[in-house]
Amino acid sequence: MSRFEEISEPKTCPWCGKTTGKFTQQIECPAGEPYTGNARVLSRKPRHRKPQNEVDIDILRITHDLFRDFHYGQFDTLRCAEEFANAAYRAGYQIK
Ligand SMILES: [Zn+2]
Repeated sequence: MSRFEEISEPKTCPWCGKTTGKFTQQIECPAGEPYTGNARVLSRKPRHRKPQNEVDIDILRITHDLFRDFHYGQFDTLRCAEEFANAAYRAGYQIK
């Protein structure tokens, strides 16, 4: 699965009307230690005794208040792009 790109303004699919979601990331932080980054923390959950190093960590979901771009240009899915293209063609749009 490919990674979403970050965009500053949300997009809306012109076919189905779906809008882009918030771009979030998951990071690890030592248990109980305050987060000092410049993102906004959406949630924090403890994960006890990570097997590799036996250190308790917290899992933080953070956001820079940016949005996830669609994978298909202006469209959220390939199906929407296909249906839009066919509807445009039926409506008389052609590239000459
Ligand atoms: Zn769509």
